[in-house]
Amino acid sequence: MIWFGPSGNSESFYREGNRHSWQMPLWLKKMGLNAYEYQCNKGVNIKKETAEKIGEEAKKAGIRMSIHAPYYINLASTDDKKRENSVQYILKTLQIADWMGAGRIVVHTGTVGKMSREKAMTLALPALAQALKEADASGLSGISICPEVLGRISQLGDLDEILIMCGLDERMIPCVDFGHVYARSFGALKTIDDYRRIFDAVENSLGKERADKLHIHFSRVEFTDAGERKHHTLDETEYGPDFEPLAKVLAERNAEPVIICESRDRMAEDALKMKHIYEACLSSC
Ligand SMILES: [Zn+2]
Repeated sequence: MIWFGPSGNSESFYREGNRHSWQMPLWLKKMGLNAYEYQCNKGVNIKKETAEKIGEEAKKAGIRMSIHAPYYINLASTDDKKRENSVQYILKTLQIADWMGAGRIVVHTGTVGKMSREKAMTLALPALAQALKEADASGLSGISICPEVLGRISQLGDLDEILIMCGLDERMIPCVDFGHVYARSFGALKTIDDYRRIFDAVENSLGKERADKLHIHFSRVEFTDAGERKHHTLDETEYGPDFEPLAKVLAERNAEPVIICESRDRMAEDALKMKHIYEACLSSC
């Protein structure tokens, strides 16, 4: 089983007169999609009833839920209080996921700042371990935490760093954002072998199961010397990366990832396009 869906709500969802995220699951099902990443990127103040309502609608529509945790999490902050708060934002997101029936949360782990990357990791790893421990104590250990490969060089979270973090616990699954990998490498993600190498790296470090059940973010991304600048749509082919080679690798591996499209404004429409590319690949590759 493979899962395709949007990150947040498309512009067309609102244009068609919808107002609430609980209306998304049925809307997505009618489109032919089966995943939805709910955005808590600006905060974790959703009410329990609202989260449960979204979860019920998702269950009815057969939509697999995930949640994006707040952007302001920084597990590598040198300020103890900020690190502790970041752990609590992860816990809060896990709680919302539990209400919503979401099996995965995606986390931006932090920024490197003026430190060395190694130093930033020595702050982030114990903070993540603390989050895992508190999740266990709160009965939230059934939800996967997916640290995301981030697009700016100044952010903690290149692929190697994410793999080290995921080594902490079996419930951690990398969120590989291929647009971010592309931006971070200044466009060095082109051939099918470039994509295969990423899956091989995950498999060598975390095993086949986690490589095949990856959490994936995909969109075309514009970049500068600092990395990611802006997300674009699938039709804006002047920006990379291309989805076709990824679809081929997924088909040849028989992988079962969750693929969340982060195109600007057209995330659901582009998720459907990606699904069609993948299906065409299954019958022809
Ligand atoms: Zn993200």
